[in-house]
Amino acid sequence: MLALQGDVREHAALLEGLGAEVTLVRRPAELAAVGGLVIPGGESTTIDKLSRIFGMQQPIREAIADGMPMLGTCAGLIMLADRVVDAIEGQESFGGLDVTVRRNAFGRQTESFEAELVVRELGERPVRAAFIRGPVVESVGSDARSLAALADGRVVAVEQGRILGLSFHPEITGETRFHARFLAHVVGE
Ligand code: GLN
Repeated sequence: MLALQGDVREHAALLEGLGAEVTLVRRPAELAAVGGLVIPGGESTTIDKLSRIFGMQQPIREAIADGMPMLGTCAGLIMLADRVVDAIEGQESFGGLDVTVRRNAFGRQTESFEAELVVRELGERPVRAAFIRGPVVESVGSDARSLAALADGRVVAVEQGRILGLSFHPEITGETRFHARFLAHVVGE
């Protein structure tokens, strides 16, 4: 878990429930010791700033280039997107997903909502997804692919190799299948 800011505890509890050994990553040496990285929801502008202050931006970019499995939710998806619309001035992402995301595309915190998504790769049971000031994937480049969209067609889950990005928070609705998919990448399935 990247533990600079955000809902680290919820993700860690879910991962531990799936039998994973969770390390909180704040330093390059800690990153070097893990087999995959979850980037939580929170505030992408803050995670960006702290990752640079902690000297983590470059090591994370290198880990992504080396094929380390990643799972980013909400702000974490923004951090993993190659292109970010409505970023604040100077905001940077790690990149890794060939997508363009728009920050805060669903409006304010009070406009949070839940939706059911069909994700073919996860089986028949729909995904219950909580959207909290999340980003929307505005376009998916040729290296990435959409995993799920809302009924109106807006893409909210993407995958590129061993990198998964979600607009919503599965860790809040008890949805474990994305984390299980991430862990399968970590153990090399
Ligand atoms: N709006 C936040 C951002 O831009 C993301 C919200 C979230 O992670 N729940 O980073």
